[in-house]
Amino acid sequence: MRALVFDGKQPALRPNHPDPQPADGEVLIRPLRMGICATDVEICRGYMGFTGVLGHEFVGTVEKLGKGADKKLLGKRVVGNINCVCGKCDMCRGGLPEHCRERTVLGIAGRDGCFADLFCLPARNLIEVPDTLDDDRAVFTEPVAAAYQILRQLTIEGRPFVTVLGDGRLGLICAQVLSQLNATVRCVGKHTDKLALCEKWKVKHRLLSDVGLRADQDIVIDCTGRAEGLAIAMKMVRPRGKIVLKTTIAPHHQSPDNALDLSPLVINEIQVIGSRCGPMAEALWALAGDKLDVVSLISRRMKLADGAEALRLCAGATGSQGVIKVLLEP
Ligand SMILES: [Zn+2]
Ligand SMILES: [Zn+2]
Repeated sequence: MRALVFDGKQPALRPNHPDPQPADGEVLIRPLRMGICATDVEICRGYMGFTGVLGHEFVGTVEKLGKGADKKLLGKRVVGNINCVCGKCDMCRGGLPEHCRERTVLGIAGRDGCFADLFCLPARNLIEVPDTLDDDRAVFTEPVAAAYQILRQLTIEGRPFVTVLGDGRLGLICAQVLSQLNATVRCVGKHTDKLALCEKWKVKHRLLSDVGLRADQDIVIDCTGRAEGLAIAMKMVRPRGKIVLKTTIAPHHQSPDNALDLSPLVINEIQVIGSRCGPMAEALWALAGDKLDVVSLISRRMKLADGAEALRLCAGATGSQGVIKVLLEP
């Protein structure tokens, strides 16, 4: 089969990669659409030290069952939780399987990803996609779940001032999700063309260069995908406020010489909350219920065969070229 492989140096399409075989309890999936996200780009810069088949955002069809996998899944269109867990460690037994100490993560840690003709996941990770939800929207389930995770970690009461920092793929999804709450949400970024989408969703937006860093926001969500995101967030958030970090970056792209000054966190008694993967079923319902506009985020569609070029396009897209989401098709 074909697979987009990162060998530690660069991503490249391998035309004759060996077909994966589903282990016990796993299924073989053929992706229909795949999404490229900032994590994929960072992996190609050394994030997580991962090598292997890239990719973790997908919607696909179950093609083959491993031993013991639920037979009802065969032929079904599915999305899936990317964290594959042991079920036995202290985290799993303690009700935090997403923090399983033995976990592998699709295309991110210890497990080949979905940018291929075929890939495997445990059957119990999968959720069937309703017929009313097309592939273009279903492929966004994983990043939408990451946005919904914020609502599990924060209680938003009254009308707090919330800033979503960053107008990229995840920032624009988080802004939509949070603005559905009773909160005064604004998206702050650097790109007029990307922020213009907020207009359509009636979400407030401002250019970073136009906002004063006045330490007046109750909550700041850092979706910048950049090392300086936390520093800016610390200047925006009010004393006793909260910062949610969504940014994941390769170590050498982080602040040089640990120059980041964390003392504002102490002085202003700020809570910092790290936030990763979220509830897939909730995200799928939100998408199926047409509560979010993700189709407007699709900038380009490319073929899996052109995957390496697609990744380069996304890597350069932190500039102002207007690329938000690139989808891959088989
Ligand atoms: Zn992602
Ligand atoms: Zn575990």
